[in-house]
Amino acid sequence: MLSEPLGFVQDELASLREQGLYNSIRTLEGPQGAWVTINGESMLNFCSNNYLGLAADPRIMAAAKAAIDEYGVGPGAVRTIAGTMTLHKQLEDALARFKKVPAVLTFQSGFTANLAVVGALVGKGDTIYSDSLNHASIIDGCRLSRAEIKVYEHCNMESLEERLKEPVSGKRLIITDGVFSMDGDLAPLPEIVRLAKKYNAITMVDDAHGEGVMGSNGRGIVDHFGLHGQVDIEVGTLSKALGVVGGYVAGAKELVDYLAQRGRPFLFSSALTPSDVAACTRAVEILEADDELVSKLWENARYFKKAMGDLGFDIGHSETPITPVMLGEAARAAEFSQKLFGHKVFAQSIGFPTVPQGKARIRVMVSAAHSQEDLDYGIEAFEGVGKAMGVI
Ligand SMILES: *Cc1c(COP(=O)(O)O)cnc(C)c1O
Repeated sequence: MLSEPLGFVQDELASLREQGLYNSIRTLEGPQGAWVTINGESMLNFCSNNYLGLAADPRIMAAAKAAIDEYGVGPGAVRTIAGTMTLHKQLEDALARFKKVPAVLTFQSGFTANLAVVGALVGKGDTIYSDSLNHASIIDGCRLSRAEIKVYEHCNMESLEERLKEPVSGKRLIITDGVFSMDGDLAPLPEIVRLAKKYNAITMVDDAHGEGVMGSNGRGIVDHFGLHGQVDIEVGTLSKALGVVGGYVAGAKELVDYLAQRGRPFLFSSALTPSDVAACTRAVEILEADDELVSKLWENARYFKKAMGDLGFDIGHSETPITPVMLGEAARAAEFSQKLFGHKVFAQSIGFPTVPQGKARIRVMVSAAHSQEDLDYGIEAFEGVGKAMGVI
């Protein structure tokens, strides 16, 4: 029972349900993969950020198990107090080599990495320039920093320059997602770097959906644009293409040194567990060794997008494997998702506040783990539901 002052929670929940914005979270009775088990049934999985199928890769699972035998299950405390493990250093070295940067510091998640960096670099009297579609963790990091936030129009470099022209005192920081997660478009990074130089601003890119997807062997968006050494800060996640969990910051040695002294989530929240860290290191090694999984991901994405476009679906302007199927109102997207579920396709609808009002969608995430038959199965289900609902 809710206490009287908490009564509003009931009304908020009812209102979310009415608008089709209430999230019913499905329970998976097994690992993430091309197919998942829900309510005892095998369902085609079109939801996860497990781009390369590494979340249940036997090589990575073995690395995690071995780490438990050698290092136990817990990190003990925050690294500044309880010390750090060899495993954490190994992961940071592997990531630095992979990303072609001098140094890396890991965090509990991409979300906390963003909170750590922004607050450590800018504060009251400083100015942040933030893309209007940046991820929630960037927005929260910016708010917590107490710097002034100037939002520029999505990927619009005229809008960014206009804002940069406004006189300010203090430091300046330009922040952007590398790949925008709901639409799959890319930040114009070369242009952002150029403007940053012109206006003496720090540059920061969040590569959460670029890792394992863009650039050579999935090195990310900086590699894709050939901008090594020109972007001050890269934030990344280990929970998407790398298949495990965690986040990191990549950049100059001094920057990493400073964040270990000043990044609040680093100082006040425990480190990643030994098994997670060992699993991530193995994932990085797999990516470094060859680009087979990355190529397969792109091949699958091209195949799926072509088929969906040919059927007449509006799939937006994605430049990456992310495939938004635009459906308008949230209730309609939710109904579409529910019908797909009836065809044994797990593809969650996404509405406000994750995407703007009236731009609800089903964001299809194909992976390297899907076979062509899997994709055909999904496409057929989309066709059936799309026709039944008058979408195509
Ligand atoms: C998913 C995502 C994050 C959060 O990463 P986690 O490791 O899951 O916390 C941060 N930024 C962007 C752009 C993301 O897409």
